[in-house]
Amino acid sequence: MRTRRPPRRRTAPLSLIDALLNETRIVARSLADFASGPRLRLGVTGLSRAGKTVFITALVDALMRAGETQGRRALPVLRACAEGRLVCARLEPQPDDDVPRFAVEDHLAALAGGAQGPDARRWPESTRRISQLRLALAFESVGGWRKGRQELTLDIVDYPGEWLLDLPLLDKDYAQWSRESIEAAQGASRAMLAADWRAHLATIDPAAPADEERARMAAERFTAYLRACRNDKFALSTLPPGRFLAPGDLEGSPALTFAPLALEDGARIKPGSHAAMMERRYEAYKTHVARPFFHDHFSRLDRQIVLVDALSALNSGPSALRDLETAMGDVLAAFRTGRASLLSAMFRPRIDKILFAATKADHLHHRSHDRLEAILRHAVHRAIARAQDVGAQVDVIALAAVRATREAQVRHDGQMLDAIIGAPIAGETIGGEIFDGRAEAAVFPGRLPDDPRAAFRGEGLAAREEDSDWRFVRFRPPVVAHGAPMPHIRLDRALEFLIGDRLT
Ligand code: GDP
Repeated sequence: MRTRRPPRRRTAPLSLIDALLNETRIVARSLADFASGPRLRLGVTGLSRAGKTVFITALVDALMRAGETQGRRALPVLRACAEGRLVCARLEPQPDDDVPRFAVEDHLAALAGGAQGPDARRWPESTRRISQLRLALAFESVGGWRKGRQELTLDIVDYPGEWLLDLPLLDKDYAQWSRESIEAAQGASRAMLAADWRAHLATIDPAAPADEERARMAAERFTAYLRACRNDKFALSTLPPGRFLAPGDLEGSPALTFAPLALEDGARIKPGSHAAMMERRYEAYKTHVARPFFHDHFSRLDRQIVLVDALSALNSGPSALRDLETAMGDVLAAFRTGRASLLSAMFRPRIDKILFAATKADHLHHRSHDRLEAILRHAVHRAIARAQDVGAQVDVIALAAVRATREAQVRHDGQMLDAIIGAPIAGETIGGEIFDGRAEAAVFPGRLPDDPRAAFRGEGLAAREEDSDWRFVRFRPPVVAHGAPMPHIRLDRALEFLIGDRLT
């Protein structure tokens, strides 16, 4: 009997033919887009809890109201809206059957409190996986031959920023990734958090026979270490693989049961060994998890907003800020790839505008908003240089997609201080007082330094640091009168940058 060898699983970089096929696919898609009218795919990303869900919900709500008088007034910087040319926005059926829809109705209901009314208002469920939403924007064009009523199809794609960190993995083999992960875990800020995983790592012999239980324990400890780096106290940036922290639909899946191993330099991985099993899973992760995301979604984006919780990093101190800088550099590397390797070039999106946004600016008095912007600009300056390198226009903004606070001057110890007022979430504490979710509190946010570099040196908030308790307070969403637009800070400026030129 003749036996056929099973086809070898392809784990090596893709061939030139793949690259050409991909290019053909992109051209075909562009032609289809051309035939069906102007379209824009806007990517919304950021690390977990950066504010993606709240941002998209607010953006969609604001655009859907932009045709109404009140809604128009709420977006003065979005020119098409201020000039009364944005006629209406409506939700359209999903463009891709295999991508979940962004649940905008549920999120709006959560913010408003749903059937129970404003007392039940809460922040919506955060992004855990990719989702998208299509809006059709009808506007009056003022531009030359296109004068008159036009329609722009806006596809908003929401995805965890953690997934972008996987792009460099596509060019790395298991041994290199293992080496780099172990090196990173030895750094001063991570060593303590990685101690448990590294102690376990020391007990594993890579050349021993494959052992499922050991693989599971190693993956659990490695994930716990990555998670600890991200907790509020340390706020360190994320290391790949991205799905270990933002697993999406792969929660609990065997696809995530691998971890780095201490391999000798240049050592051959023996078939049947523990290392061979880990290597196989790592390659499967690249092929079946990471690559399809870049291929099917990332490469199709036209514009991108990267949301950053810079306040949390400020809160955790200079090492977290510097780490944020590194993380943003890594995230942005995904946008400029291509010169070095054919593989990365295939996934490079044709992004022409990138906006970095420091979210939750309503935790600060407006006098600090420009300073927050300056700190973010400093944190992402290298990433900005890279983006400009590939011809993308880049801007930085501090915003609050949903403004949960208002401002006031409050007398404190005989001094008038800038304060923000809001309702802390039930269970939040300020100066030992526990809030019930109903009572409001006046908080003194302190002032961010004039010179952004001071924040990186650890000179966080100027004056009255002891009162600067904004950082630990989460406010409830605001109560909004029925039918009124949601309050925001600079959401319209973000929109003008991201889509304004396509509404002319
Ligand atoms: P995601 O993980 O990026 O989708 O983050 P979310 O959009 O779910 O936001 C995480 C949390 O940050 C929310 O639950 C809110 O507590 C807070 N948050 C997000 N955006 C804002 C904002 O504009 N203002 C305020 N005050 N809080 C916000």
